[in-house]
Amino acid sequence: MARTETDRCPGVLAVHQAADGGLARVRLPGGWLSAQQLEVLRIAAAELGDGRLELTSRANVQIRGLDARGPRELSDRLFAAGLLPSIAHERVRNILASPLSGLDEQSRYDVLPVAAALDRALCARPGLAELPGRFLFALDDGRGDLADVQADVAVRALDDRSAVLSLGSRGARVSWTEVPELMLAAAEAFLSVRDQEWRIAELADGEERILKRLGLTADKPLNTSTTRVTAGAHGQALVVTVPLGSLTQDQAAALAAAGAGVRITPWRSVVVPVGAAGLEEVGLVTAADSVWEGVTACAGKPGCAKALADVRADASRLMPTFNRDGQRVHWSGCERRCGKPAGGFVDVVAVSDGYLVDGERV
Ligand code: SF4
Repeated sequence: MARTETDRCPGVLAVHQAADGGLARVRLPGGWLSAQQLEVLRIAAAELGDGRLELTSRANVQIRGLDARGPRELSDRLFAAGLLPSIAHERVRNILASPLSGLDEQSRYDVLPVAAALDRALCARPGLAELPGRFLFALDDGRGDLADVQADVAVRALDDRSAVLSLGSRGARVSWTEVPELMLAAAEAFLSVRDQEWRIAELADGEERILKRLGLTADKPLNTSTTRVTAGAHGQALVVTVPLGSLTQDQAAALAAAGAGVRITPWRSVVVPVGAAGLEEVGLVTAADSVWEGVTACAGKPGCAKALADVRADASRLMPTFNRDGQRVHWSGCERRCGKPAGGFVDVVAVSDGYLVDGERV
């Protein structure tokens, strides 16, 4: 499928102009942020943006409401903080890693160091700066929490020696020592065969053609079961849900004070050391039975010019109405459904005179 649109994925240098000002997206490979880096982002949001840090479905962070001087000043601060290691690659550092990797007993292999190594190797290859901003790498520590993120190139641990490398539904057994090189080789193979496509799944026979170029045979049946990670204690870690994925200044400061660093998850939550204190007091959620658990929303009004409703205000008011049986719920201000979660969810979409819930008017 050849695309005709331009890839407008925002970054720090390619800021998107939204209705409420500039929107910058900061890529965080593996979702990792040191406490100091989180403070840099928090202060930048206060001084250059609207004060909030938005968490995305790819475990990145966005700052909204930047004025004209904001993007330049923000990029200078991020560069100094080590959050902009390559100008050329800033929009292509899309690397998800299981956020609880190495922290609880479900982890078969600690994939966070692999994510860091993959990021360094990616930034060292000039040609890979040409990847589309939507191209996604995923490293699953074996628990299956990233099984439904629809990565272009995914790796799932079998044990501490081997993993399954998969492109879509096709997978081959590989050893961990060859994983970063194979993932980047798959990305390079994609670039060499694509036309205007953004994702491997958009290429005709893309998975098969790329696996062949890598010299791999897809013979390993894929385990497609998905494990959901909810708020609460998991081994040495505490998963903290951020209501509607939008961190206030107080919340960001409390998370930065919780330990040496945090891991942002793709589910609008943050991983901190178990025993971290002072989080509920600022409105963060540390237990899975909260009505905020699994509820997400796009920007909506007034941030997005396309929005038909202030979905965040409506979600806060009406949330328990749609939070059926603990399913994920996503509120969208229009049918584009930005930021929707991977996998199944209750679909709440604004229309001109109200909302549709899973296609039915309410
Ligand atoms: S889903 Fe629609 S209203 Fe919401 S952010 Fe995307 S374009 Fe805007």
